Amino acid sequence: MTIDDAPRDALRGGPRELLRWVATGAAVSRADLSRLSGLSPSTVSQRVEALISQGLLEETGAGRSRGGRRPRQLAVPTGGAVVGAIDLGAHHARVGALDLSGRVVQARTLPVRIEDGPEAVLGALLAEVATLVDGDPAASRGGSATGALRGVGIGIPGPVQHSTGRIVSPSRMPGWNGFDVAAFCAGRVDVPVIVDNDANLMALGAHRTAHSELDHAVYIKAGTGIGSGVISSGRLHRGAQGSAGDISHCRVVADPAPPCTCGNAGCLEAVASGAALVTALRGQGVPVSDLTGVIRLIDDGDRQATALARQAGRAVGEILAVVVNFFNPQVVAIGGRLADCEPLLASMRATLYERCLPLATQTLLIERVAAGQDVGITGAAHLVIDHVVAAA
Ligand SMILES: [Zn+2]
Repeated sequence: MTIDDAPRDALRGGPRELLRWVATGAAVSRADLSRLSGLSPSTVSQRVEALISQGLLEETGAGRSRGGRRPRQLAVPTGGAVVGAIDLGAHHARVGALDLSGRVVQARTLPVRIEDGPEAVLGALLAEVATLVDGDPAASRGGSATGALRGVGIGIPGPVQHSTGRIVSPSRMPGWNGFDVAAFCAGRVDVPVIVDNDANLMALGAHRTAHSELDHAVYIKAGTGIGSGVISSGRLHRGAQGSAGDISHCRVVADPAPPCTCGNAGCLEAVASGAALVTALRGQGVPVSDLTGVIRLIDDGDRQATALARQAGRAVGEILAVVVNFFNPQVVAIGGRLADCEPLLASMRATLYERCLPLATQTLLIERVAAGQDVGITGAAHLVIDHVVAAA
C-alpha cells in the first residue's frame, strides 16, 4: 500500500522518472536519460538494468547512430494486459486491463448495484479483471496469464483512508462504511492492490495523459457525487489521511439550504451534484428518474433544469475560487458526466473569474477533462505502475 511520498525533486532521475521519460518518448536511450537526469552514464545504466530485469523496460533493436555504434533503443513493454483497474461508480463500473505504459488493452463497463454490498460488488469486478487479463493473447503467451498480472488499482466513489485502504463514511454506499477494500482484495488476488477514491484516480489519469508537464493542477469530478483530486509539485496530494481534495461537504450559499446525506445542510454535494439535481427537479414536480434524464432536459433547454445547472455551476465556482486562491494551480479541469453540461460550466467559469485574485487566474487554464471514460482506470493503472516501480 505504501507509496513513496518523497518530493518530486528528490525523484529526479529516480526509477519512476526514468521510466516515465521512456514511456512518454522524451528518452529512447541511456544517453537521453543521462542528459535529462544529469546522472552519470554508469548510474543510469545501473538503474536501466534493474528496470529491465524487472520487466519494466525492454531494449528494442537499434536507434539512430550519432557516429559510432548504433545505440539500442529503450521502450516500455506495451501490449501486455498486466495491470488490472476498476473505476467504481454509483451505477456502473469501468473495468480494464492495461499495459505498463498505462495504455488500455481491454476495458468494459458493467452495471453495478452498490446496495448489494462490497463483497458481492468487488468480488464480481475482480473476477471481471481476471477475465480481461486472461483474454489478452500477449499475456497468455507468457505462460500463466494471471502470473503476468502486476497489480490491481481500484477507485471507490467515497472517502478512502490512504494508509489502510479502508472506506470511511461514504454517502450513498449503504453497507460499505469501514470496509477494508485492500484486505478483501488481498484474499482474492496475490498481487498488490492499491485503493483510492475515484476523484484522485481521475486526477492522476488526466494529469498523466494531458498535463504531465504541469506541476499544480486541480481536477473536479462532477457526476452523481462531486469531488476533486489535487496534483501538487507533480504528485497526487492526498494529505494526512487521504481526504485532500474532498470538496463534497464544503458549504455553499444556497437559500433554502438543502439537507445533505452527511447530516448538515447546504453542502456542495447537496446543491451541485448530479444526485442533487435529480432531487431538486423532482421537488419541482419534474418526473425525472436519474442524471441521464437531467442532462437530457438541460440539452433540450428546459427552463427549470437549466436554471438548476447554472446554480450548480455557481456553487462549484464558489468553492473552486477558494481552492484556486489558496492553491494557485496552473490548470483546473472538470470531468464526470456533468462536465459536458454547458450552462453549469459557463457559470462555474464566470464565478471563478469573479471571485479569484487576478494573479491566480492570469494564466489559469480552465478545461474539460479530455481523457473520456477510461480516465479513471488509466489513473488506477498509474497508481499500480508507480507502486511496482517503487518496489523494484
Ligand atoms: Zn454534506
